[in-house]
Amino acid sequence: MVLEAQTAGYGASGRNGGWCSALFPASLGTLAGLTDRDGALAQHRAMRATVDEVIAVAAAEGIDAHVAKGGMISLARSRAQWRRARAEVADARSWDRGEDDLRLLDRTEASAILRGTRTVGATYTPDCAAIHPARLVRGLADAVERRGVTIHERSPVRAIQPGRAHTANGDVRAATVIRATEGYTPSLSGQDRTLVPVYSLIIGTEPLPASTWDEIGLARRETFTDHRHLIIYGQRTADDRLVFGGRGAPYHFGSRIRPEFDRDETVFARLYATLTDLFPVLQGTRVTHAWGGALGIPRDWCASVGLDRETGLGWAGGYVGDGVSTTNLAGRTLRDLVLGRDTELTRLPWVGHRSRPWEREPWRWLGINAGLRAMTFADAEESVTRLPSMVAKAVSPLLG
Ligand SMILES: Cc1cc2nc3c(=O)[nH]c(=O)nc-3n(C[C@H](O)[C@H](O)[C@H](O)COP(=O)(O)OP(=O)(O)OC[C@H]3O[C@@H](n4cnc5c(N)ncnc54)[C@H](O)[C@@H]3O)c2cc1C
Repeated sequence: MVLEAQTAGYGASGRNGGWCSALFPASLGTLAGLTDRDGALAQHRAMRATVDEVIAVAAAEGIDAHVAKGGMISLARSRAQWRRARAEVADARSWDRGEDDLRLLDRTEASAILRGTRTVGATYTPDCAAIHPARLVRGLADAVERRGVTIHERSPVRAIQPGRAHTANGDVRAATVIRATEGYTPSLSGQDRTLVPVYSLIIGTEPLPASTWDEIGLARRETFTDHRHLIIYGQRTADDRLVFGGRGAPYHFGSRIRPEFDRDETVFARLYATLTDLFPVLQGTRVTHAWGGALGIPRDWCASVGLDRETGLGWAGGYVGDGVSTTNLAGRTLRDLVLGRDTELTRLPWVGHRSRPWEREPWRWLGINAGLRAMTFADAEESVTRLPSMVAKAVSPLLG
């Protein structure tokens, strides 16, 4: 049985940027610290395979999620970004990740895929598909219902205890209770420091003519970003819109989530300015859609999944901005854990990992918003100096 506070797909899953990627929020070094080098690489292989798994499930269930597996290009648009791009590829090689996994593109190769201003090069991975998130999550909800699962919508859970979930309309009893509330987790009793909700906001343009796409690129609907500090992400949709998002909206005191936080005109204007700086051909293009939502961040940025056999309480989450594929891996892993199977999935390093709790307020509010400001400032500094930001260097040890 699924208990859902609103409607299936109401959360981040129904409104994300539509990257189904092999990205995992914690580095391979962090994962190796939880187990060892082989464990970290096994997790990476599982993430790569999960992209194809999501695509296969959508096909098998007849879900038209507008899937295009064109990979992901990350442009380097300054010397500082180019240095980070090369460092990322060198780091990948130190983990024996080859050209088939991540490769460096020079300016000509990058521009053959995507023609952003000031491009000096890029990194490219084939392990990413553009999808329509709401179509995927609604299709999955239908698929689990067809298999006999009951989804109770408009049934917010107030608290979880061993063997029971409390709702306003009564308790549900079950031997196993899984928490999968991601950015909304602080609303559950006793969970206010488990994950923090951080907002990501998105704009979507009107459908663009073929002549505009000829100037921009993305012929295979590759997803795209660049190597700046504060995340941006984009995709070309199946109906030829450009959907473009980024972080940078403030964290709200006490981990509050409100519908009005989904819209922030200042952030929308900043996204439009960033988009038209990347692709001047879009100057004057109409934005027809703008929205946002909360993702969930654990204190050590390491997503995890697990089940406590003693209590029957399980969890999955902390995906930061990488949950489209990782939720699938979490679901399959929880299946094995609940059924008591010892499998390759249940031996992955993120299984059973527990992140430490976030700081109490006001330290949480001060720390997270200072970090967001610092990253915005670091990108502004680099856009002027073109050199690696001194601010980012100074604050990065504090943000870990
Ligand atoms: C704007 C945005 C863009 C993003 N872009 C990407 C991207 O391109 N690629 C990517 O991989 N990831 C992206 N993410 C992150 C990704 O969407 C999430 O990691 C993923 O959807 C999390 O899935 P989930 O099922 O764990 O949580 P959610 O999809 O957030 O679902 C949680 C559900 O729990 C329900 N709920 C909340 N409280 C309760 C309660 N008390 N009782 C019962 N139910 C409750 C909510 O209504 C919600 O439906 C993005 C996120 C956002 C917000």
